[in-house]
Amino acid sequence: MQKVVILGAGLAGLSAAYHLQGNCVVYEQSTAPGGLARSFARDKFIFDCSGHLLHFKTEYAQNLIKQLMPEQLIPHNRNAWILSHNVYTQYPFQANTFGLPSGIIKKCILGMLKIRLSKSKKHSLNLKDWMVENFGTGITKYFMYPYNQKFWTIAPENLVFDWTKDYVPLVDVKEVVSGAFTLKTKALGYNSCFWYPKTGGIEKIAQAFAGQIQNIKFTHKVSGIDINKKKIYFENEKSTNFTQLISSIPMIELKKIIINDLPARVKEAFSKLKYISVFNLNLGINRKNISDKHWIYFPEDKFCFFRVGFPSNFSDAVAPQGQSSLYAEISYSKFKPLNKKQAVKKICHDLVKSEILKIEDQILSVQVNDIKYAYVIYDFNYHQSLKVINEFLLNQSIYPAGRFGRWKYMSMEDTIVDGKYISDYVKEI
Ligand SMILES: Cc1cc2nc3c(=O)[nH]c(=O)nc-3n(C[C@H](O)[C@H](O)[C@H](O)COP(=O)(O)OP(=O)(O)OC[C@H]3O[C@@H](n4cnc5c(N)ncnc54)[C@H](O)[C@@H]3O)c2cc1C
Repeated sequence: MQKVVILGAGLAGLSAAYHLQGNCVVYEQSTAPGGLARSFARDKFIFDCSGHLLHFKTEYAQNLIKQLMPEQLIPHNRNAWILSHNVYTQYPFQANTFGLPSGIIKKCILGMLKIRLSKSKKHSLNLKDWMVENFGTGITKYFMYPYNQKFWTIAPENLVFDWTKDYVPLVDVKEVVSGAFTLKTKALGYNSCFWYPKTGGIEKIAQAFAGQIQNIKFTHKVSGIDINKKKIYFENEKSTNFTQLISSIPMIELKKIIINDLPARVKEAFSKLKYISVFNLNLGINRKNISDKHWIYFPEDKFCFFRVGFPSNFSDAVAPQGQSSLYAEISYSKFKPLNKKQAVKKICHDLVKSEILKIEDQILSVQVNDIKYAYVIYDFNYHQSLKVINEFLLNQSIYPAGRFGRWKYMSMEDTIVDGKYISDYVKEI
């Protein structure tokens, strides 16, 4: 008889289990479902693991989630901004330079015109080329390059750009010019509208899935996998066998727990996977409406964070009346390490410098999430390494799923759809 085992009760693992309709067991290291999409109750505030908002590209996921949690999701029109050169401009930068110094606006428009009028179409080799090819030198210089370098912790010249198609909205000259002279009313991009649970924070989605799944074993941290014997060992000294294994745990962690010797080319491929981490500080503040915005991007190095958002503007239920909450995010990696001992102090200092917080603001709650695996780095080794690893895993009846299981830039919706895709695949074997 087939025994399907799922590792990890984040959204990918939960969705796979939901779609397998009970014919599987899920093992999760922590005490609750949700993984990156968990929420934490502290001092009457509810904090997510940094900003977590639902965007729908597929009708399937939208219908499924609304059916799992009827009338609990609230739609919001995005109110996102960028702070640069001491000016707030609307997101996305490429379509909204209104308000910036006139010299910058001029360079952004001229750069865009130049690429549109250029007859020779170049083929971008890296993320920096791609920015210049699509937005011109002005927009690249004043936002795209500094923001991406800060976010990815490495120079855009070292990155590929195929991940951009779902996340970075392209614009035409008309949009660049009109956005230079007025504030926009039409929002652009994949996240122009988002959904958020009425109460309980983003974890409500994971709870809705988990409520439909019988067989989740919490506090089962996998510590070893014997791929020859098809046996899994847990830190709590239990073990189990599998015929098919769906793994949503980070690929690098999966490699560490496989006890068998791996072929040299597979080991080498694993060693080339790169990622960035995010240090997320959540704060509860004793002041109402600390911001009228949903979130703000910070491309400049004079602020340590790349983004700050305001969950109390997504849901009234995540902060007590008359109080507000915010999250700040700093990215770091082995290429740009972070002094974690100083991070909270530095963030608070920069929140005051950016005038989001006032020096007299009373901080009522502090919650930190140090997210080791936050975004995979799409460098020049990415595709080849993944191809070698995936071929190897599939041959062992191990099916990667989800954001770090598959090692791919995925949203919550993507991981839910991925869980369904993997379960359909496994059902057919
Ligand atoms: C900073 C940040 C902001 C984000 N913002 C958004 C957003 O606004 N909108 C959006 O749609 N998406 C967002 N995402 C992406 C979203 O969080 C993920 O796509 C999704 O939650 C990933 O789900 P998953 O199941 O693939 O992985 P995970 O959530 O990582 O789940 C993996 C699970 O495996 C478990 N596990 C790991 N190792 C072991 C082990 N050895 N044994 C047993 N269990 C183990 C973990 O505890 C975890 O529960 C964001 C991500 C980050 C990092």
